[in-house]
Amino acid sequence: MNNITIKQSVKYITILGSTGSIGTQALEVVRDNPGIFKVAVLSALKNSELLIQQTMEFRPELVVICDETQYLPVKEALSALPIKVLAGEAALSEVAAYPKSDIVLTALMGSVGLKPTIAAIKAGKNIALANKETLVVAGEYITALAAEYQVKILPVDSEHSAIFQCLVGEEQNEIEKIYLTASGGPFLGKGKDFLSAIKKEQALKHPNWVMGAKITIDSATLMNKGLEVIEAKWLFDLDVDQIDVIVHPQSVIHSIVQFTDGSMKAQMGVPDMKLPIQYAINYPDRLKNNFKRFNFLDYPNFSFQQADRETFRNLDLAFKALRKGGNMPCILNAANEIVVEAFLKDKIGFLEMSEVIEQCMAEIRLIEKPQLTDYLETDKHSRILAGELVTKIKI
Ligand code: MG
Repeated sequence: MNNITIKQSVKYITILGSTGSIGTQALEVVRDNPGIFKVAVLSALKNSELLIQQTMEFRPELVVICDETQYLPVKEALSALPIKVLAGEAALSEVAAYPKSDIVLTALMGSVGLKPTIAAIKAGKNIALANKETLVVAGEYITALAAEYQVKILPVDSEHSAIFQCLVGEEQNEIEKIYLTASGGPFLGKGKDFLSAIKKEQALKHPNWVMGAKITIDSATLMNKGLEVIEAKWLFDLDVDQIDVIVHPQSVIHSIVQFTDGSMKAQMGVPDMKLPIQYAINYPDRLKNNFKRFNFLDYPNFSFQQADRETFRNLDLAFKALRKGGNMPCILNAANEIVVEAFLKDKIGFLEMSEVIEQCMAEIRLIEKPQLTDYLETDKHSRILAGELVTKIKI
């Protein structure tokens, strides 16, 4: 008998946001698996130097630089190569539908990921979703669209990847509850007095994960966990009461599913975003790698505690937004993007971020059944209001 080996054909990947933390780690996975992945498209916000370097190495067919002022330097640097260069945010939606690509990794920051994700779904591409804001802003719309076009949304967020992995083989079984684990961020156990005085440099030091600036601040305020609660609702079709958050400072248990018989499944591992990235882009197959393995003796104790939603109000606001539904999570997300940017520019204090978000949620009209245009309008409106509120704050 001949041995029959099924050879996996090469998968073409589009990476939207290739110069960010997730994008660069995704390219490490591609580099380590040259016979399995090839890059079809790369896009960057404004880091043209790194984009050029990545393009030279990975030879995509298309690249996008969102910052149009960087178009000429990128175009010139790549002029000897058969590579098409596009500029501007609108080009993201165009390249997201690029025919050759098998999967689109959305590693953009913020609600800017919404339109290209829609374009990719409509072109029948599976989505490796790292841009959680897309589901926060318009989860109902996006999940319905994915179902209509029969595409998969494969989570890259480590908690959601964990839940997703725990659910393999459990398709017929009902979920009772999920627990999203949270590291607690750099200010775990701190009170409001301490938090009122902290600066961005302190907030940018995450204990377990190395990530981009926006998500690192979101982790410090627990907004990241709040956004993940909303993301989980849409990815796994859950009620808000089926989602709980538990602080687990070691970040080894990435999340837990509890089934209706009380049995719990958890997914664990050394914190490394390359694992969920790899799992999403090569789903359903696992790939061998040399990532660091877990050693029990390095972690003789795991601990768990309740999240302090009184001090870290953003998590509470996210639960409130999800309960209200409609465009409320979109309001929360847009206001959050503005306050995080303001905090990173020292224009607003740590605790004031929640105050601005709460005020936007109170002032902007709730639309219970929003259409896509309502989400886009709400996003714009909430950004403007949050911006105005920020300018009124004196620190
Ligand atoms: Mg996460």
